[in-house]
Order: sequence, then structure tokens, then C-alpha cells
Amino acid sequence: MSKLQGGCMCGDIRFDCTDEPNVTGVCHCPDCQKLCGTAFSIVVGINSDSLMVEGEPTVFETIGRSGQPVERNFCGKCGSPLYSVVHSMPGTTFLKAGTLDDTSWLEPTVEFFCETAQPWIQKDDNRVKFPLMPE
Ligand SMILES: [Zn+2]
Ligand SMILES: [Zn+2]
Repeated sequence: MSKLQGGCMCGDIRFDCTDEPNVTGVCHCPDCQKLCGTAFSIVVGINSDSLMVEGEPTVFETIGRSGQPVERNFCGKCGSPLYSVVHSMPGTTFLKAGTLDDTSWLEPTVEFFCETAQPWIQKDDNRVKFPLMPE
């Protein structure tokens, strides 16, 4: 089993990626908070070419802070958020880490959108922090 294998809650949509992750981070952006119904999302950045998807995700497009679209892919049946395609970062797809089958290896090393982080969140100096997204 690859470490980047996962899927939605109902099992209609499954994905796999045989590459190694480029980055594992926490995203505090308001859209992630809304989409995931919680304070932040944990995302794993991968090369878009390496993602294989079975099933048909529903796509909801938002406009990111860059002014460019973000395609938010989720399961239309159970609602699980699966991954985002961020047009301002071509070639990269961000998996929502909670949908992975094995989350035991996850250790975020960066934080995005710290500007909009919930105030009670502990700041961990071991992670590199960006007020928004890195260029
Ligand atoms: Zn589902
Ligand atoms: Zn976000």
C-alpha cells in the first residue's frame, strides 16, 4: 500500500499516489476552515501528474487570495473533502490528509495562512510559518 492512498467516507471515491509528498502542512485559510468544518486543514502537496482517482469527485470552485481559482474536489455523496487544485501553483495538488488510509506518518512542517489562524492555536516553532502562501 502506498502511503498516499485514501478515499472518502462512503468509499465511492478512492485515490492513490505513488510519489513521495512534496510538503505536509497545516492550512489556516478561511476557505479550508469552512470546507472542513473545523479550525484548519492538514494538506499534503503532491505532483498533480502522480494522482490517480477512481470515482467522480464533485468540484466546487473558489477564488483564492491569489485571485486565481481553487478547484475543491469532494465526494458529492458523503461530503468528504478530498483534494484541491490550486491554479496559482501549477502542477501541485493538495490532498486533504484526513482522507488518507494511513495518517500515522503525518508530521506537518509548514503552516499556511497564519494570518487567519484561530487565536487559540498553539504556535509551534518547529514549523515554518507563512502569513499567506509562499510565492
Ligand atoms: Zn463519499
Ligand atoms: Zn486553505
